[in-house]
Amino acid sequence: MELRQAFATHLPWALSQVEPQGLENPRWLLWSQDAAEMLSLVGPDANALAVFSANARMAGASYHAQVYAGHQFGGYSPRLGDGRAMILGEARDIDGQYWDIALKGAGKTPYSRHGDGRAVLRSAVREFLVSEALFHLGVPSTRALAVVGSETQVWRESLETAAITVRLARSHIRFGHFEYVTHGERDPERLRQLVDFTINQHFPHLSCDTAGYAAWFAEVVQRTAVMIAHWQAAGFAHGVMNTDNMSILGDSFDFGPFSFLDTYRENFICNHSDPEGRYAFDRQPGIALWNLQRLAQALSPLISSDALIAGLDGYQHALVQHYLILMRQKIGLPAGQAAEDLQIVSGLMSLFEKNALDYTNSMRMFAQWRPGESHFALRDECLDSAAFDAWFQAYEKRLGRVADAELWRRQRQAANPRYILRNYLAQEAIDAAQQGDNQPLNTLYQLLRNPFDEQPDMAQYARRPPRWGEGLICSCSS
Ligand code: AMP
Ligand code: MG
Repeated sequence: MELRQAFATHLPWALSQVEPQGLENPRWLLWSQDAAEMLSLVGPDANALAVFSANARMAGASYHAQVYAGHQFGGYSPRLGDGRAMILGEARDIDGQYWDIALKGAGKTPYSRHGDGRAVLRSAVREFLVSEALFHLGVPSTRALAVVGSETQVWRESLETAAITVRLARSHIRFGHFEYVTHGERDPERLRQLVDFTINQHFPHLSCDTAGYAAWFAEVVQRTAVMIAHWQAAGFAHGVMNTDNMSILGDSFDFGPFSFLDTYRENFICNHSDPEGRYAFDRQPGIALWNLQRLAQALSPLISSDALIAGLDGYQHALVQHYLILMRQKIGLPAGQAAEDLQIVSGLMSLFEKNALDYTNSMRMFAQWRPGESHFALRDECLDSAAFDAWFQAYEKRLGRVADAELWRRQRQAANPRYILRNYLAQEAIDAAQQGDNQPLNTLYQLLRNPFDEQPDMAQYARRPPRWGEGLICSCSS
C-alpha cells in the first residue's frame, strides 16, 4: 500500500512523530473484506498482521499523532490530541478517494496524559463493528479495516487484553483542531493554513477566499445536520458528542459508549458517565448545533460573524428536511408538507414510547405490510388500540393510493433494517472473543454487512435484548 503524506507535509505543526508499540502475540479478530477491497489489499496476511499490530513499521508511513482541543461535556480542554491513536498516512482507494490509516491502541503519544495509549479488546471490537454497521446502513461514518487482538495486558477496572483497531477516515480533522489553533496557538496564519488544507483536500469545489470560506462553513453545517438526521432516523445514540469527536466532514466518528436504541425512549442515555443526559438521544440535534457554534467561534478570526451566523441559520432547516426524507422512506410517504409529516412521525414515536416498543423491529413492520391491507401488525403491539387506530387513519389518509403495493413493501424493506448492532449482541460476541472464540464475532459482523436482508437462519439476531441486556450501557473507560 502506498501512502501519501498530505496532512503531515502541509501541517507539520499540528502533529508529533510517535513510535508505535507492538502488541504481544497478535492475532486477527476482525478483517473487513469490503474495506480491504476498497483499498486493493490482499487478505489478512502475516505482513499485515505485523504492521497492524504495530510490531513492524509500514513502508512509507509517517507515524504521527495530531494535536487538537475540544469541549468535553461542555467544558473546554485546551490540549487534547491523539492519546492512543497514530496516523500512518493516506491511502488511495479504487475510486481515487484518500483514507487516513490510523492504528487506535498502538501505544503512548505526547497526548496520552495519564493513559497507557492502549485500547481494550471490547472497545476496539465495538469501534470496528459500529463503523462498519453504520456504513452498511448508509449512515456517513468512518470505517474500520481490522481489529488485532493480543496477549498484552492492560489495567482498566480489571485486567484486560489490549487490541488495535485499524481505522479508516477520509479525514481525522475535528472541530477541536480549529479550536486548538484559535484559542491555543492564537495564530491566524495557522488557522488559515488549516482551513485552506481542509478545503483543498476535502471541499475541492470551493475556493480559499472570503466567499469560499463562508460557503465552506455553511457546507460543514449542512453535512453535520445530515449526519444527525441519519442518527435520529437510525435510532443511534453516539454517547460522547464532544467537539473533539466531531468530524469536519460530517462523518460519524470516535465511538465509545454508543448504542442503537432497543426500546424506543426519546431521552435514552447510553453513556454511564453522562448521568445528566447531556448527550441523550433526543438532545443530539441540539448538541450538534452547540458544537457548530463552538466551531464558528473558532473560525471567527477568519470568517465574518455575518457569514458564520448565516451558516448556522441553515442548520435547523437542513436537519428537519433530511430527517423527513429518511423518515418518509421508512414509512413510505411521498414528499409532502413538512408540518403534517412531522406530526405523523412524532405520533408514531409516541406510540413507540407509550408502548415501550422496540424501535428497529417496529419500523420493520412497515416492510411486512402492504398498503391496502387492513391488518397492520403494529396494532397488536399497542395497548391502546384506539390511539393506534387514530394514528393509522391519519397515516393512511396521508399515504393515499399506492399503485404498486409490492414494490412499496420492498422499498420499506430497503429503508428499515432487520438487524442492527444491539449492545447485547456485541457483548455476547466480545465475551466469546475474550475466551478465544472468534466465531460469534465474525458471524455478527457478516450479518451487519447486509442489515436490510432477511437472513433466514439469523432470526435470533433480530430479537429484543434478553433481560440482562436491556438498557446495557457502557462507560467511557476504553
Ligand atoms: P475519547 O473518549 O476516546 O474520544 O478520548 C478522549 C481523549 O482521551 C482523547 O484525547 C484520547 O486520545 C484520550 N484517551 C482515551 N483513552 C486513552 C488511553 N487509554 N490512553 C491515552 N489516551 C487516551
Ligand atoms: Mg475522541
